[in-house]
Amino acid sequence: MSGDITQTDVLIIGASASGLMCAIEAGKRGRNVVILDHANKAGKKILMSGGGRCNFTNLDVSASNFISHNSHFCKSALSRYSQWDFITMVDQYHIPYHERDLGKLFCDVSASDILNMLLSECEKANVKIRLNCHITAIEEPDNTGFSINTSVGRFQTTSLVVASGGLSIPKMCASPLGYQVAEQFDHHIWPTSPGLVPFTLQPHDKEIFAELSGIAVDSIVSNAHKSFSENILFTHRGLSGPAILQISSYWQPGETLEINLLPKLDIMGLLKTKQSEQPNIQLKTILGEYLPKRLLLAFLGEDTASSPLQTLSHARFSEIAQQLQQWQIKPNGTEGYRTAEVTLGGIDCDEISSKTMQSNKANGLYFIGEVLDVTGWLGGYNFQWAWSSGWCAGQVV
Ligand SMILES: Cc1cc2nc3c(=O)[nH]c(=O)nc-3n(C[C@H](O)[C@H](O)[C@H](O)COP(=O)(O)OP(=O)(O)OC[C@H]3O[C@@H](n4cnc5c(N)ncnc54)[C@H](O)[C@@H]3O)c2cc1C
Repeated sequence: MSGDITQTDVLIIGASASGLMCAIEAGKRGRNVVILDHANKAGKKILMSGGGRCNFTNLDVSASNFISHNSHFCKSALSRYSQWDFITMVDQYHIPYHERDLGKLFCDVSASDILNMLLSECEKANVKIRLNCHITAIEEPDNTGFSINTSVGRFQTTSLVVASGGLSIPKMCASPLGYQVAEQFDHHIWPTSPGLVPFTLQPHDKEIFAELSGIAVDSIVSNAHKSFSENILFTHRGLSGPAILQISSYWQPGETLEINLLPKLDIMGLLKTKQSEQPNIQLKTILGEYLPKRLLLAFLGEDTASSPLQTLSHARFSEIAQQLQQWQIKPNGTEGYRTAEVTLGGIDCDEISSKTMQSNKANGLYFIGEVLDVTGWLGGYNFQWAWSSGWCAGQVV
């Protein structure tokens, strides 16, 4: 097998979200398309996404939901292949789905519905997928295009599309190949780091908060740049949950976060009123209507939490409000690529066509999906970027 040369019009590295979408579109145009992937299964990240239900897009998508050194780059692709276009395909396949908070669309049944839809479209478009295929070398283009050496033989192609994703979850076959190819062709790469990732806590905080593991609270989490209003989740390692994952993409090591655990409550007003109405009632009974008692004890201590309201001054009320509504927490770090949903940074978009995703450095070379310096918020935005960028390349490769 290793002596064989396979000629293709389009060779795509990566059989997951962006690669499959690009393949479908190119195949529909009559192009001869082969996808290579070193995994033993296509679309592993699709299958594990959204807790197995794949948050495949969002009803409200705009450039402001993405992080990139070039904030305009994603606009063209997102408008040419929008969330509505992907929803139309999902509807055509009668895939049941529902909207969760903030416009997030999830499958009712399973993420495999989305993967099966893409694989079925690939089949219709005559796309060939080669799994368990290890790429050993990519040769510089000549008149015949690119030459790719792999564990299953040599491929020659006119268009080479890199859809190999970022670095998150190495166990799910993530690899730096995309960045290496970009470097080979003289592309600039912005430093990469884990995004949408849980925080670990300093040893002292971990001791206090680990016992709250499993508690989720609707909160507002802020740093100097951004604020997110969603759930946070205490875990045995630190902090997770949507609002934490969102802010992690904007967090710098050493930075302190502010968390409002009761964003909708006027704590001062409530405690003053209750103090005059029910002076003997304990603080934890009043606040226990809004927050789990375990959490109140960890934050306020047993003595304060058990105090009757009449024994607490208004100044103390103000301190309590501050503790719960302006909680200052300095994470120790993040859980890293092991659990991060995405990779921040990546291939500099200034060197890529925003319309076609073609490299400005090498004719016929394309980069799509997460390998580019475009990172979405939590909420279906990363898949929408994969669909949109894959679709755009698929029109021209
Ligand atoms: C746990 C988890 C949950 C997520 N949930 C959501 C969600 O619900 N909604 C959302 O929008 N986003 C979600 N994401 C993010 C989303 O999965 C990615 O942004 C998206 O899959 C990126 O698509 P991609 O095609 O660029 O790369 P990937 O989906 O990462 O695909 C890259 C492909 O390239 C292959 N590959 C890599 N290296 C090589 C190599 N050296 N040789 C050959 N093949 C290679 C891989 O095997 C893989 O098949 C989640 C991510 C994770 C990790």
